[in-house]
Amino acid sequence: EARALKRLRDLPADTRDGVRVTLQANLELPPEVGQAVAAGASGIGLLRTEFLYMNREDLPGEDEQYEALRSIVEGMGGRPVTIRTLDIGGEKLAWSLGAHMGESANPALGLRAIRLSLKERKLLDTQLAAILRAAAHGPVRVLLPLVTSTGELQETRRALAEVYGELQRRRVPLPEELPPVGAMIEVPGAALSADALAGTSDFFAIGTNDLTMYTLAIDRAEERVAHLYNPLHPAVLRLIQFAVEAALRARIPVSVCGEMAGDPRYTPLFLGLGIKELSMAPNSLPRVKQRIRQIDMTAATHRAQAIMDQRDSGRIAALLDDFNG
Ligand code: PEP
Ligand code: MG
Repeated sequence: EARALKRLRDLPADTRDGVRVTLQANLELPPEVGQAVAAGASGIGLLRTEFLYMNREDLPGEDEQYEALRSIVEGMGGRPVTIRTLDIGGEKLAWSLGAHMGESANPALGLRAIRLSLKERKLLDTQLAAILRAAAHGPVRVLLPLVTSTGELQETRRALAEVYGELQRRRVPLPEELPPVGAMIEVPGAALSADALAGTSDFFAIGTNDLTMYTLAIDRAEERVAHLYNPLHPAVLRLIQFAVEAALRARIPVSVCGEMAGDPRYTPLFLGLGIKELSMAPNSLPRVKQRIRQIDMTAATHRAQAIMDQRDSGRIAALLDDFNG
């Protein structure tokens, strides 16, 4: 079976009826680039940059971040790399940021992710400078975590343009144009205002991990409620559908990059909803590709419609399992 999966690497991620799907990798650490390429990823759909800030007492400087990001961009050999700005806070903590973050009774609802970056502008500007310099070495996109409003995109775009200007004055190599800026859709409010966010975003990446958590008010680390964490809850699926339709109407790319994206059980549902980009852990990629190659798009679209008519997650799971055979 291992050999069969390896052979898959060189086959296209096309459905049986010839619809091309883009499969990208999620990366948490630079050495995983090799795995992403080996698995046949056509790019990095989500580069989590937290590794740069973890397990240390000081903050990483621009040069250090640039070197790390450049090695990843170069390692991908011209395939696009989606770099997410710092997504720290809540369950993800970094020593070096303790002083900037303060205490919060509800860290999941507190100063985290893009909110922290926009409050600590030095932190954001340093990271944007490193990203812009890395973008001189290959195609890069910038992704913002935990977005809830268009203002966050506009503010970040302004910061990006300012940093670009400063780097030009420093005469460092830069890409000819500013990279695309996209929003993670991982808060219910973001999904419900996806039409507005699509107006200020160049692309969407749907984060089903946080979207499920915030929609159902379930902390997965809280054992006593963990069994209620269910990405097939109709509320979660409706929010995904709402965001996808807004993206398709606005003609901006939309991907799914939460854990769900790497589970072949959900693949027909995503395709049926009109999602043609999935980003996942490199080792999930072959199995999802294998599943895509078995799927008939017309059948998947009909099944997704039937699923979206359901009001009960048990019924949804049954319809999906029946489709998966
Ligand atoms: C998500 O929330 O689904 C996601 C992809 O981001 P992270 O898992 O890093 O929070
Ligand atoms: Mg998230």
